Amino acid sequence: MKFAKNLERLGTESAFAILAEAKKIEATGKKMINLGIGQPDFKTPTHVMEAAKKAIDDGHHGYVVSNGIPECREAVCRKIKKLYGADIHSDRIIITPGGKPTMYFAISMFGEPGAEIIYPDPGFPVYESMINYTGAKAVPYSILDNKDLKFDPEKILSLINEKTRMLVIINPNNPTGSFVEKSAIDYLANGLKKYPNLIIFSDEIYSRQIFDGKEMPSFFNYPELKDRLIVLDGWSKTYAMTGWRLGWSYWPKECIEHIVKLLINSVSCVNAPTQYAGIAALDGSDESINLMMKEFTERRNLIHKLLNELPGVECSLPGGAFYAFPKIKGTGMTGAEFAKKCMYEAGVAIVPGTAFGNTAQDYVRFSYAASRENISEALENIKKMLG
Ligand code: PMP
Repeated sequence: MKFAKNLERLGTESAFAILAEAKKIEATGKKMINLGIGQPDFKTPTHVMEAAKKAIDDGHHGYVVSNGIPECREAVCRKIKKLYGADIHSDRIIITPGGKPTMYFAISMFGEPGAEIIYPDPGFPVYESMINYTGAKAVPYSILDNKDLKFDPEKILSLINEKTRMLVIINPNNPTGSFVEKSAIDYLANGLKKYPNLIIFSDEIYSRQIFDGKEMPSFFNYPELKDRLIVLDGWSKTYAMTGWRLGWSYWPKECIEHIVKLLINSVSCVNAPTQYAGIAALDGSDESINLMMKEFTERRNLIHKLLNELPGVECSLPGGAFYAFPKIKGTGMTGAEFAKKCMYEAGVAIVPGTAFGNTAQDYVRFSYAASRENISEALENIKKMLG
């Protein structure tokens, strides 16, 4: 077969391969504790599931408009207003099957040979993969220089030149679980005013998963950037809806006709019952989010403590999402060696840091979307493994 050349530049998300490997080992009868996958281990709230069932019973089973049913886009606008006080017109909101297509569409829209796109390393791997796929130059900014694994806004600003088309920010970040607070985002947003042609892509998928009562510094807080801002968010993490495939995004006005064409050329639309479920989630009570965050806080504290008790392992306190990203250099292993040993000797699936970029060779990612019992058992097994 003769494949298109740019396919060679397309990367992948190895967390899925690790999940498959862990399942294979499990199928042989061995116990495997999965701290590899990035999805909440909670159930989608009941009222959300009921809304989808009702939509099916009400006959919402045909195609719907590509950009998302108006009721769903309006629910997103109500939520943005409630959370950030911003007045957004529903024409600027796009509903997609999960948050991921927003990356795919935005990078396809702005990436091409000769263009540069700045992105975090380590960061969610699809960004680098998609930038390379389009032939644009992928320009990473490291977030490992700082002990709390937070990016330095000044460093990001120093990477911008006349070829830079887009800047990607992920906050809170996957894989590091680091959260950058408002003062640093204020500084960055202020610096970005000097580059009026630059598109700002803010991945806020973990915006409702921030610890210690801190406020989410959404880019919706900066109205002066609104006309060149893309915000990726969605239901997957906030409402434990990863498998439903439902995401929303905000786009500059000029992008809308292109995004609608991209949708029509690819997925057509998100199925209607899922969009009705999404409305119920946004308009319903936040009780499920609060309960989930209470549990995630306990687990974060537990895993942070247990990781720092391991010989040769250091871990900063995660500020958001549900990941811990320890440096394991002191064990004498690379992240890849450490993760492999954990899988085969300790029965614990985790992801090596290099799955998220080249700079994270001495790191591994633990997802603590697992019960406290499983977290304790996994860390006990790793402790024994390290002797
Ligand atoms: N952004 C980040 C930073 C993520 O970690 C993920 C999923 N792990 C996504 C976006 C995509 O989410 P979805 O499952 O809704 O496509």
